[in-house]
Amino acid sequence: MARAGVKAHIFEKDKQLGGKLAQVIPWERLPMATWQQEIERFTNMDNVEVHFGVDMNPAEFAKLQKDFDYVIVAVGTHEPRRIPFPGHEKVVAALDFLKAGKSDKPLKPGKQVVIIGAGNVGCDVACEAYRLGAEQVTLVDIQKPLAFGKEKETAEALGAVFKWPIMTKEVTDEGLAANDGSFIPAQTVIISIGDVPKLGFLPDNIECLKVGGASWLKTDKAGRTSDTKVFAVGDVERPGLATSALGAGKTAAEAITAELEGREWQPFTKPVVSLKNLTLEHYSPEPAGGANQNEEADRCLSCGSCRDCHLCETICPTNAISRRELPEVDSYEYISDDNKCIACGFCADTCPCGVWQMRTN
Ligand SMILES: Cc1cc2nc3c(=O)[nH]c(=O)nc-3n(C[C@H](O)[C@H](O)[C@H](O)COP(=O)(O)OP(=O)(O)OC[C@H]3O[C@@H](n4cnc5c(N)ncnc54)[C@H](O)[C@@H]3O)c2cc1C
Repeated sequence: MARAGVKAHIFEKDKQLGGKLAQVIPWERLPMATWQQEIERFTNMDNVEVHFGVDMNPAEFAKLQKDFDYVIVAVGTHEPRRIPFPGHEKVVAALDFLKAGKSDKPLKPGKQVVIIGAGNVGCDVACEAYRLGAEQVTLVDIQKPLAFGKEKETAEALGAVFKWPIMTKEVTDEGLAANDGSFIPAQTVIISIGDVPKLGFLPDNIECLKVGGASWLKTDKAGRTSDTKVFAVGDVERPGLATSALGAGKTAAEAITAELEGREWQPFTKPVVSLKNLTLEHYSPEPAGGANQNEEADRCLSCGSCRDCHLCETICPTNAISRRELPEVDSYEYISDDNKCIACGFCADTCPCGVWQMRTN
């Protein structure tokens, strides 16, 4: 919105920007230098004003609704899920453990640690526990662990052990007792079964979806809630990834900007082009990225859109492909003559943008 010239205010409970990326995800996963560069780039923008230390409450929210044209709720999920088994009060929430790990008062977990919930966040917790002095970390789950990729590999490389199916019966000062009679000794038991939104500051007229005992904000494709002036983006609308949260923020910003400018907003509906349909050999790698908007634009692969490079027309061995001008200004199309096409697939193989595709005949 700021880029479109709209003044945007951020009200943040914490004293830093960045949500879970800054507060929770260990620096080993997200390098501090990269992070600081991103934050600097953001804070150097015009039209953004940040107000730190504001914990949203009903009165404050009502004031925002009165003072501003739109309110976007992006509070994420900061209420850890817990299970009320005996001894649950001895268990540390993954969110609290990871937040403490990034603070100047990290929690020392002792030599043996058990983590309830063996997803990717559980793996990050395991790595953090090793960093803070643990020697034996066990992740337990009621089902086959959902963890995958780098998070799982890193935890396993440090020595973390996965056990399932394990249903917690009780947590004691000595460790975790399971329903199957087994006992895993631990000085610290951490629960990592997800976080849910904390929405006590919202008025009742804003509709929520109840899933798994928690409320998530209900929105349309633009991120608009049942109150047309209130939007919701990111984990508070559906738990996901930072990338999805950023995308949802961009969508909401575009919808609001369009409305302010009196334009009709259309959701992005183009089909995703499969990477395998692009001929990446035509492009040189640019690991450093562009220094400015024009350089960034020059790196665009233009995937899915014809860039009028004539490669298909040139390479076609039977001259089946030809280019023709269309009546609209600067408009053209490439067509393939079925009577000449021998289905060699050269056009699809050479098209840099994945426009030509072979179909089974
Ligand atoms: C351990 C872990 C690892 C992850 N790893 C990855 C990964 O590798 N890749 C990936 O894409 N995603 C990852 N994620 C998910 C990612 O962190 C979230 O999807 C993303 O941060 C969601 O962004 P958000 O803006 O919706 O919420 P958040 O990042 O949670 O931001 C919400 C903000 O709102 C503030 N806030 C909350 N309540 C209030 C209030 N009442 N008043 C004022 N401010 C408030 C919070 O302080 C916070 O700054 C990971 C998450 C965790 C926990």
